[in-house]
Amino acid sequence: MKDAMQQLFAVDIGGTQVKAARVTADGQVLELRKISTPTTLPAFRELAAQLTAELGAQASAVGIGCKGRIDEATTRIEALPGTMNYLEGHTLSEIFPFPVPIRADNDARVALRGELRWGALQGFSDAIMLTLGTGVGGGVISGGHILRGATGLAGHLGHYTVDPAGATCICGNRGCLETIFSAKAIEAAAFSIVHRGVASTLLDKAPHPTCAEVFAAAQSGDPAAREITDRAIDALGGALAGLTYIFDPQIIVLGGQIAGAGDFLLNPLRRMLRERTFSMLHRELPIVRTALDDPSGVLGAAALALEATANC
Ligand SMILES: [Zn+2]
Repeated sequence: MKDAMQQLFAVDIGGTQVKAARVTADGQVLELRKISTPTTLPAFRELAAQLTAELGAQASAVGIGCKGRIDEATTRIEALPGTMNYLEGHTLSEIFPFPVPIRADNDARVALRGELRWGALQGFSDAIMLTLGTGVGGGVISGGHILRGATGLAGHLGHYTVDPAGATCICGNRGCLETIFSAKAIEAAAFSIVHRGVASTLLDKAPHPTCAEVFAAAQSGDPAAREITDRAIDALGGALAGLTYIFDPQIIVLGGQIAGAGDFLLNPLRRMLRERTFSMLHRELPIVRTALDDPSGVLGAAALALEATANC
């Protein structure tokens, strides 16, 4: 009974929003806040203090998911390129000063934990998960263990190279998956079309069609939009095949806003994966969507917090 009464403070720090919640030990979200991600360190500290005071008072453990490379032992943000770079080198347990156990990890790896505990990955020991959002996050479980690598970098599947001579990525690599398949990459391609005045229904959304609008136009048969989504889906399909040969998963799980495109996205991926892996696998590899409702990042953070209490 004491577990059911336990209250967790769960935080998901993303590039667009910070989500914070009070969550029960069985995954019920009691209260949730979503705030635009601050653009400076002082503003972030202020927000962290405010959320801690408002939502964390009764928490017995804290779980935090954050973009970038996080040291799980110290909660220090070791590397965080992009708009939240001001957090790099700072320690989350110092920014969120709780007297209770606190755990932090890469946001996609945290989302993977949520799916393992309560979602589509329950019972699986070998799986690949990608979160298809502003960027592309990833997590891998192999032989029942979540892969971390030597420095916590393992599982950054969005930086899997799909075009060695491709565009420069925020990570410093070139032709990463997320330079072609991510909301930002798709929106950049759409802006290019609109800016050049190519005949397309996307002109109605000028000057900045959203990723969702690009997918909607493609599904309606707009050739220019279809060109963008076809290229993106081909890149993701190729990446999934390559990752399958590396990790030999039982299942592939896709989350994030773009996974909302459903079968328009999943069916070509399934076809590509079958074409490229069946002769070795001799079976269909399931590709499914995450099972947890948004905000799965918060539930993943709650699952991480539970791990902290289990080790006390
Ligand atoms: Zn990259």
